[in-house]
Amino acid sequence: MAKQTQPVGNKRVLAVFGHPDDAEQFCGGTLALLAKEGFKVTILALTSGECGSQQLPAEEIVAIRAKEAEEAAKKIGAKYRCLGIRDGCVSYNLGTAQKIVAVIREIDPLIILTHPTADYMTDHAHAGQLVLWAVPESRHSNFPAPIKAPALEAQPFVYHTDPQGLIGPDGQIVRVNTIVNISSVIEQKLEAFSAHESQMSFLEKKGKGAVEKTRRWAIIRGQQVRIEYGEGLCQQLLEEYPRRNILAEILGEKVFTL
Ligand SMILES: [Zn+2]
Repeated sequence: MAKQTQPVGNKRVLAVFGHPDDAEQFCGGTLALLAKEGFKVTILALTSGECGSQQLPAEEIVAIRAKEAEEAAKKIGAKYRCLGIRDGCVSYNLGTAQKIVAVIREIDPLIILTHPTADYMTDHAHAGQLVLWAVPESRHSNFPAPIKAPALEAQPFVYHTDPQGLIGPDGQIVRVNTIVNISSVIEQKLEAFSAHESQMSFLEKKGKGAVEKTRRWAIIRGQQVRIEYGEGLCQQLLEEYPRRNILAEILGEKVFTL
């Protein structure tokens, strides 16, 4: 299919992640910066986050997390939505790809941010893979999806975030091709991430110190380009994906293309 240039003036961003707190943790800074540039930012969590508690029944923790996620999204100028798949059960299957195509066609985003295709949690890895399934199909009018919105005319720009801990399957810090300087919004990002209150106590109990750990990742990515805090992203550059680093065009000197 011929590449179509994105029309000027598309100011919509979609963040597709596995769990309700992932978007803030992995790219909350970038999303906050885009919101400040006037972008309409939508966070789509694939799962409702049932596994975020060992004590509460599923329905209770889901209700708590939905509220927290809405508040957290607000703090970075985003709107929160959820596909409602059971936590831990994101499969690489047609039905889920179709649901994601429907959301992509409805929103018609300029940019999609998602997980990398390899991460320690299958929900994350499958989310990254499902986005790569859904993006080209969102442009094919004969690919069936549960929505009346027409197929997209232009291919969105796709960026994968860092995996958990920045670590790939070989135990090394993964390579990225883009680092966003989030120093001006680091506290906003961490405050938004902390708004997932139920998860803070849950993750702290597991001895992970979630907020400080997230700050540490930002320091490591920042050091790579000699800034205080950075978010690592890997722009998807497979054939048919647009090659311009659109984030650099929007955010200027805040973006380092490696
Ligand atoms: Zn997650």
